[in-house]
Amino acid sequence: FDLRNEDLKDLQELGQGNGGSVKKVEHVPTKTFMAKKIVLIDAKPSVRKQILRELQIMHDCHSKYIISFYGAFLADPNICICMEFMDKGSLDGIYKKIGAIDIDVVGKVALAVLEGLTYLYDVHRIIHRDIKPSNILCNSRGEIKICDFGVSGELINSIADTFVGTSTYMSPERIQGAQYTVKSDVWSLGISLIELALGRFPFSESVSDDSDLSDYEGTLSPARPGSLSLSGLPPARIKSKRNSTAKKDKRKSKGVSLQGGAMTMSILELLQHIVNEPAPRLTPEGRYPKEAEAFIDSCLLKDPDDRKTPKDLLKDEWIEHAIVSDINLEEWASTF
Ligand code: ADP
Ligand code: MG
Repeated sequence: FDLRNEDLKDLQELGQGNGGSVKKVEHVPTKTFMAKKIVLIDAKPSVRKQILRELQIMHDCHSKYIISFYGAFLADPNICICMEFMDKGSLDGIYKKIGAIDIDVVGKVALAVLEGLTYLYDVHRIIHRDIKPSNILCNSRGEIKICDFGVSGELINSIADTFVGTSTYMSPERIQGAQYTVKSDVWSLGISLIELALGRFPFSESVSDDSDLSDYEGTLSPARPGSLSLSGLPPARIKSKRNSTAKKDKRKSKGVSLQGGAMTMSILELLQHIVNEPAPRLTPEGRYPKEAEAFIDSCLLKDPDDRKTPKDLLKDEWIEHAIVSDINLEEWASTF
């Protein structure tokens, strides 16, 4: 493909993230549907060109667990990245629509992400850096693929300044400023898998009630006066078990007030929680296969030296079950 913006017809907005927005487009000359990510970058022309050069590595990424890349170009002041369109969207959207995802499907997701991470690292020495449900995509063929990996150091630098809110899949070592390694992605995978299996973000310790916290993004609230924030990050509202006295509070509302007993924790408090408190687990104990519990526990070992790499985790017992599992993801994807 020699991609030019004027050959792309906008069809539908797919979503917005911190770095920009994603649209479904049609490449008219070839009648190909694509996802076009538009990233607003406040950088010098030389830096933009550097980013574009770095993105070209994606042309060499060929794996059935990685979103295909069609090309990237400058459309001032934006950088546009065109990639394979996944018609079932991302796993956050899927669980928000259909509820908690069956643990056997979650096993297949774990397998796909581990395969994708292993491919990126073994073949290209790329660390993903942003594993989370919205970067795991699904299509109606039942394929599961990862996207938005950190191929471009310059791109990472350029959006770092405007990057807000989603640092919550960050590993303890990353929060503490240690070097990013493949094992940091394994932590993020563990958090993401709990989120899919529970149908809610795991640091929101829902206790006994059925309150709808599925819309995690909706729980990010604007900065309150006097709240701490880290380089402009807004505080995130999350539920905490420390809030046990408020858990019977069934007030439901939008915006910044209490929702089903949620307590407000700033993003800084959340980061401190990740560093200081025990890692989340698949709960309640006994609901899920013990192999699934053990796998997730091993992803969420707080010391990265104790955590395995994606490649080693491919030999995990639960993953070996997922490999031989005959669950039909195409059929599953046809249910939503
Ligand atoms: P984030 O990943 O933080 O949600 P993005 O800007 O990367 O923000 O993506 C916004 C949304 O667009 C995602 O949540 C996802 O649902 C959707 N999306 C991204 N890439 C694709 C794609 N290739 N195919 C279909 N949907 C996509
Ligand atoms: Mg994304």
